[in-house]
Amino acid sequence: MKILNMNDHLDEISSIVGRSNCLVDERLLKYFSYDNLREYEVPAIVAFPGNLKEVKKIINFAKRCKIPIVPRGAGTGRTGGASGIKGGIVVSTIRLNKIIDIDEKNRLVITESGVLNGDLQDKLKEFNLFYPPDPASMYISTIGGNIAENAGGPRAVKYGLTSNYLIGIKAITGNGEIIKKDRLLLKDVSSYNLPQFFVSSEGTLGIITESIHRLLNLPDKVFMAVISIKKEKLFENMFYNIIKNNVNPMSVEFIDEKISNLLAEKYGFIKRDSYAVLLIEIEGDERDVNSRIQTLKNMVKDCEVYISDQEENVEEIRQMRRNISSFISALYTNKSSFDISVPLDKISKMLLVLKKIEKRYNIDIRSFGHAGDGNLHVNVLYNEKPLLFADIEDGIIRGAIGLGGSITGEHGIGIKNLKYLKYMYSNNDIKILKGIKHHFDQSNIMNPGKKI
Ligand SMILES: Cc1cc2nc3c(=O)[nH]c(=O)nc-3n(C[C@H](O)[C@H](O)[C@H](O)COP(=O)(O)OP(=O)(O)OC[C@H]3O[C@@H](n4cnc5c(N)ncnc54)[C@H](O)[C@@H]3O)c2cc1C
Repeated sequence: MKILNMNDHLDEISSIVGRSNCLVDERLLKYFSYDNLREYEVPAIVAFPGNLKEVKKIINFAKRCKIPIVPRGAGTGRTGGASGIKGGIVVSTIRLNKIIDIDEKNRLVITESGVLNGDLQDKLKEFNLFYPPDPASMYISTIGGNIAENAGGPRAVKYGLTSNYLIGIKAITGNGEIIKKDRLLLKDVSSYNLPQFFVSSEGTLGIITESIHRLLNLPDKVFMAVISIKKEKLFENMFYNIIKNNVNPMSVEFIDEKISNLLAEKYGFIKRDSYAVLLIEIEGDERDVNSRIQTLKNMVKDCEVYISDQEENVEEIRQMRRNISSFISALYTNKSSFDISVPLDKISKMLLVLKKIEKRYNIDIRSFGHAGDGNLHVNVLYNEKPLLFADIEDGIIRGAIGLGGSITGEHGIGIKNLKYLKYMYSNNDIKILKGIKHHFDQSNIMNPGKKI
């Protein structure tokens, strides 16, 4: 792979996007070269294309000269997918920021890939429409990045992930070919599902410039229940009971004991010394919601329960949950995060595995996450890196896999999780996955060294 110097080929990229839409100043390049993993190399250039044609030209130029490309949304990824590659071109979607059409009759939205998820959600509210995928980073992450990572949030329990709403796409593959599936159809099985190839692709197949998503009606009424659970046994059976009793929640978020004790200092609705705290959202029309709330209340008689249907309260609690990651980051100088996923009936067992690791290595581990779909964010916190750090990380990953889980529920492989791929897939599986990438990107210029 060719390594580009700062000013090599600046003329070529400038001629495509305009000089003012290129960065080569080393101090500024840095800001576009790392994501939340904060491991990166400084690229040679950052380009800000304004349309599909410009993206295509950049990819064709990179292919001709064999220069690596890193597609970049907002850089909120947690596994290094958007980390710069030395001498490479970072292609930022900042300028692809238009919501092209909100099609109320077909209940679809067509959007460019650099639009922030939260901006889209807010715009749709004006039309009484609802786009369910709500990663905690929704106000700082892009729709293109959400597709490339198959982002999901609390609402995934009931409404699913980004993939469940994606029905169309415009993208340029690493081979420089346009992929265009833009019919406004909710059902169409006339080919392989091209848009879905880009789901979880982490920028390794091509660059998404536009996408089409189906929409729902905005729910009438939302209740938030904060349940402080004292006993492990009660927590263990909670998920099964919620499903069995038809509570049908929109989200079930989990906060562990140590984090909830800290939050309790600021938020009166969280009770100290709970084994766990669950944030449960239930939405729908008023009568139906009331009866499901009653069912939930009957189930959690032995717990401290706070319930609110006031929009500001509900939003305050959601915001508290979205801020947990940065809140615990501030406790130590370093944090290594995992987003393992385990079957619902194995969540308690996974928490036990974490407790054992914590004790054995004398390290602080704090967890929270989308427990309603078995996805836990596990954070190893430290000031000085422990000697046996690799064993701690390996223990967490092996613990999850041993329970039938996965190394990542939503943050992807990127660079961070690459070494664990072999725990989940056979050599033959990996050969097939590499074959898919090769088909889209024969010169291996798209985000090489990541995902696969
Ligand atoms: C505080 C915080 C909370 C978070 N909460 C959640 C959560 O609840 N759920 C969740 O799923 N994730 C969460 N994340 C992770 C992250 O926000 C998501 O993965 C998000 O989808 C990344 O979007 P981005 O625009 O920042 O993409 P980036 O970080 O810029 O890129 C992510 C990957 O997508 C690729 N990519 C970006 N744009 C394109 C494009 N147009 N075409 C092709 N490839 C592209 C990049 O190459 C990279 O591999 C959180 C992150 C933070 C910091």
